[in-house]
Amino acid sequence: MPKTLINTFAKKLIAWHGASGRSGLPWQNNRDPYLVWVSEIMLQQTQVATVLERYPRFVKRFPNVKKLAAADIDEVLAEWAGLGYYSRARNLHACAQQVMTEFAGRFPSDPVLLEQLKGVGRSTAGAIAAFAFHERTPILDANVKRILARLFAVEGAIQEKTTNDRLWKLASDLLPSCPEDMPVYTQAIMDFGATWCTSRKPVCLGGEKRCPFAKECQANLSGLVLSLPKKVIKAESPEFECDMLLMRFGNSVLLQKRPSRAIWGGLWSLPESSWAIKVSKKNMANPSLRALFKDILPEEKSAILLKVCKTVQRYKEIKHVFTHRRLWMQFWEVHASKEVKFSGANLEWVPLSQLGRYGLPQPIKLLLQGLSLVRGDDLKN
Ligand code: SF4
Repeated sequence: MPKTLINTFAKKLIAWHGASGRSGLPWQNNRDPYLVWVSEIMLQQTQVATVLERYPRFVKRFPNVKKLAAADIDEVLAEWAGLGYYSRARNLHACAQQVMTEFAGRFPSDPVLLEQLKGVGRSTAGAIAAFAFHERTPILDANVKRILARLFAVEGAIQEKTTNDRLWKLASDLLPSCPEDMPVYTQAIMDFGATWCTSRKPVCLGGEKRCPFAKECQANLSGLVLSLPKKVIKAESPEFECDMLLMRFGNSVLLQKRPSRAIWGGLWSLPESSWAIKVSKKNMANPSLRALFKDILPEEKSAILLKVCKTVQRYKEIKHVFTHRRLWMQFWEVHASKEVKFSGANLEWVPLSQLGRYGLPQPIKLLLQGLSLVRGDDLKN
């Protein structure tokens, strides 16, 4: 391991940040652990450009941990709609309640305690501790893993525990000695991975920028830059299909609240059948209303609805790509001639004018926006 790099890395990186790091991002330069935490969770699987738009809105609506903990989960999910990975929103809400009940409304500064909070992993705990409390504790997100794997030519697959342990050790060894430098250092290593030592076009492989670590970086010296970090090759993502019921009565649609542990957990969506491995539906006849309802609705609801619905029409088929799977949703449009009251089964008639109050999965939101009956602003609130 190059000792000089270990000793000089933090200083060089901080100097690099002064000249070339990102500045002016709304979540930078504050020590409020609540704001740091919200930005870190939002940035986990969302592009910076999107977070720039949504983060100010979220913290305006929920300005502190107390307000977020007291909010209804549906309100939080509605505000999160479109950002994807909805477990993050559910965890934010649960974590806020945990901070209120277990830590008297104050985030702990110890990264070990932070890591016990719902949805807070070791790297996020490190970021909160470093930014808000100036703790000398490392982060190790995907960007940092890439930088370290290249600098020190770590060749194991990054999903493997031994590789991860080694990267955590390196991340700790490289920290600046002065706690006051922790916020700028942490921001710098995030920025360096996001803008200079990028996955496909690191600056050392072309262009005019000169990497400050080019002469010490083991991957650069041995021509391994683009082959590090190594990843285990993923199997091809499976394809699923399901039927979805676009049930309408007047200006209302029938929505169903999804179980909290499912995909799009806790959001409101159109009632759907179980997912099955996709098969070609070419030449398949339309289902009867009875068969469709049987696949989608509880038996007693299906029996009631059959009395007020006469026909079913094939609507759109939409493909949605998740990280590890693809889902083909076939929508079936059915009109009810009378409003049927429901109790239980998490079913609710929702006027189109009120859809903006409900957290909806993005493809369902887009579909409903596409219905000519929906006013353009109904879903944007
Ligand atoms: S030399 Fe290239 S691979 Fe190495 S740290 Fe710099 S940008 Fe990254």
